[in-house]
Amino acid sequence: MSVNKLKNIVDNDLCVRCGTCAGVCPVGAITFNDRNYPVSNFLCTDCGRCMEVCPGIDVNFPDLTMQLFSKKFEIDEVLGFFTNAYAGYALDPNVRANASSGGIITQLLIYLLEKKIIDGAIVTTMDPKLPWESRAIIAKTKDELLQSMQSRYTIVPVNQLLSKIRQMEGKFALVGLPCHIHGFRKLADIDPIIKDKIYLALGIYCSMNLEQEATLDLQKISRTPQNKIKKFEYRGGMWPGVIRVTLKNGTTHNLHYSNYKDGAFNYLSRLYCAKRCLYCIDGSSELADISFADPWVQDGSGEWTYKGGWTLVFQRTEKGGELLTRAEEDHAIFLEKLYGNSKFERFIHNITNKRKMAFVRLSKLKRKNKPKPEYHLCNPTITIKDQLKEYFFSLTLILSKNNRIRKIVMKILFSRTGILFTKLRIFLKYRT
Ligand SMILES: Cc1cc2nc3c(=O)[nH]c(=O)nc-3n(C[C@H](O)[C@H](O)[C@H](O)COP(=O)(O)OP(=O)(O)OC[C@H]3O[C@@H](n4cnc5c(N)ncnc54)[C@H](O)[C@@H]3O)c2cc1C
Ligand code: SF4
Ligand code: SF4
Repeated sequence: MSVNKLKNIVDNDLCVRCGTCAGVCPVGAITFNDRNYPVSNFLCTDCGRCMEVCPGIDVNFPDLTMQLFSKKFEIDEVLGFFTNAYAGYALDPNVRANASSGGIITQLLIYLLEKKIIDGAIVTTMDPKLPWESRAIIAKTKDELLQSMQSRYTIVPVNQLLSKIRQMEGKFALVGLPCHIHGFRKLADIDPIIKDKIYLALGIYCSMNLEQEATLDLQKISRTPQNKIKKFEYRGGMWPGVIRVTLKNGTTHNLHYSNYKDGAFNYLSRLYCAKRCLYCIDGSSELADISFADPWVQDGSGEWTYKGGWTLVFQRTEKGGELLTRAEEDHAIFLEKLYGNSKFERFIHNITNKRKMAFVRLSKLKRKNKPKPEYHLCNPTITIKDQLKEYFFSLTLILSKNNRIRKIVMKILFSRTGILFTKLRIFLKYRT
């Protein structure tokens, strides 16, 4: 029965919580529990479509890459196939200032809507009633798109809305993390209606995602009563931003003292990383029409190269390229071509590291004969150095296993003392 198979995927930690199973289900038999895991109910007819589209168990990278780009999948090309790469930003200063990076994603969606190329877009926003919780919506107005700006470091089963899209008139865009894009491509492969209605898939780079407890614990350790929160932001203010809350009385409070990238996000990623992310090999949304990243690019002294809000943009398909050209010509976005790799060494290193470490963990699962996601690829050579690196990394995850210890560590790291740890990390990271 599909009911049992779905449960097995969840119980074996294979589920990425993308929502595609609910997006394909023809009878609405799949809902999500409070941790965003799918649960199927008595309506299930055992048609098996949810299993067919699930990217948690299987993503055929060679086939999907060939289908989309007529290219062979290259395991070492961690940025995926792209025809052009840019650094750019939204030319609407309000979008640029309030987005995660340079606001290119939101500006492109507004452009598509205003030019009537799409009728709406699947995006994520904060729940207006519970502003620390994220949810997916089909945005049909500029105002709704503006509400969707910024990265939310929490799991949202975005693709469940594909079942609604199937019933709607018109064309739509989809914004998602790599795992959402995998699920969408698998679904589009068996469902011509979805393939036709989703005009464009905009993919976000992703190193990992956080469990919902990260957001809740942050509120607790900062002693912020939920009933006073009006707005919760993971990337509020000037790039790279801070995690902050705005209260109903209008005051805004940062939830950490250390910097965002080497401090707060680094701590959260060790303490609250979603387990399935450790086995994910796609850091660059390789199967999207266009992919978008934060400009984590530094000069020799450790200073950020792109300040003031920039998005890195990777043009992959022809359709993606056409949109970028039109939006640039119509002065919606500014784009500057990226040349050479020297500045991007660390940026590429981070994506390479994600893939390499995922393969080390996958080979561990294989050795132990445990269920693992299938990517239809030969495992690359794993060196002793890689294994040691993964071993030391896994030690840092131990703190995440006990809730009480985790909260104590959080209290320290998110206090002023966290600044010292961040300084030490930056010193060690950039000493060479
Ligand atoms: C969980 C997560 C991990 C990331 N990891 C990396 C990384 O390792 N390296 C890197 O370079 N960049 C990463 N990013 C991407 C980066 O933070 C920016 O999203 C990207 O640079 C685009 O910026 P923008 O200003 O153009 O987007 P904006 O204009 O601010 O638009 C953001 C879009 O992202 C969508 N979105 C936000 N949160 C989610 C979510 N949880 N699930 C699905 N869609 C969402 C929104 O709907 C919105 O459409 C990550 C983003 C997320 C959400
Ligand atoms: S389709 Fe997505 S949400 Fe559904 S079981 Fe698979 S990974 Fe989980
Ligand atoms: S690391 Fe992979 S599985 Fe985890 S949220 Fe990002 S894309 Fe999805």
